[in-house]
Amino acid sequence: MKLYTINAGYFKLDGGAMFGVVPKSIWQKSNPADENNLCSWAMRCLLIVDGERVILIDNGMGYKQDEKFLKHYYLHGDDTLEKSLASHGFSKDDITDVFLTHLHFDHCGGSIERDSQESLVPAFKNATYWSNRAHWEWAVIPNDREKASFLKDNILPIQESGRLKFIDNQDGVTFTENIKIRFAYGHTDSMMLPQISYKGKTILYMADLLPSIGHIPLPYVMAYDMFPIKTLEEKKRYFEEAVENDYILYLEHDPVNECCTLQETEKGFRVKDVFKLTDI
Ligand SMILES: [Zn+2]
Repeated sequence: MKLYTINAGYFKLDGGAMFGVVPKSIWQKSNPADENNLCSWAMRCLLIVDGERVILIDNGMGYKQDEKFLKHYYLHGDDTLEKSLASHGFSKDDITDVFLTHLHFDHCGGSIERDSQESLVPAFKNATYWSNRAHWEWAVIPNDREKASFLKDNILPIQESGRLKFIDNQDGVTFTENIKIRFAYGHTDSMMLPQISYKGKTILYMADLLPSIGHIPLPYVMAYDMFPIKTLEEKKRYFEEAVENDYILYLEHDPVNECCTLQETEKGFRVKDVFKLTDI
């Protein structure tokens, strides 16, 4: 099995919204804000080549949204999904499985693109797309608070293409021999975290349960979360498991750091080591 970091670019989100109840005087030390209070965030996907399968975990926000939408998110940097895949010798047509942790636009927007007739079509034309039924139903009839994150153009064409499959909503369900799927319910309903066995280690893809190293202290929960108290409980439970088993946490949104391990100190959970996927 081989793993590759795929960087689908950087975008900006309000620092206050990203850190919930934590004051700026504290979060700006780890995540400096620009003059509009926006911080830069990665859209760091993961490519897993496991036997015959070429699995892409999440795919950034894509490029099909109109200027008005993109203006709010300040896409920046030179990285694109396509360039990043190409740098490892892959193209979108090589992907057999598109795994979507959840359907917020910054995780699944690259799933669908416009063809020359302006129709919305799968960007990965040889791939099966994976979600789960509870999250899918939650996303297609979104609540008013989460509506801005669930864009119909990213979601409905996946189902219309006939390429959508659901994973059983069961914590630890097997996806491949080396990948199990864990669940979290605080950020949004039924978000999925791939847990990967690799070189004798366990890597947990944190998606929006732990966006960055700056979010490690338990109460540092995003204002975007639907059920913040549940996120707090889930962080505690997953972090205890991670410390006990020395899991490697893969960070989707951290602008600088790819992976970390955790330790428990008298102040609570803190970062232990920071490294790149290629260092494993
Ligand atoms: Zn999200």
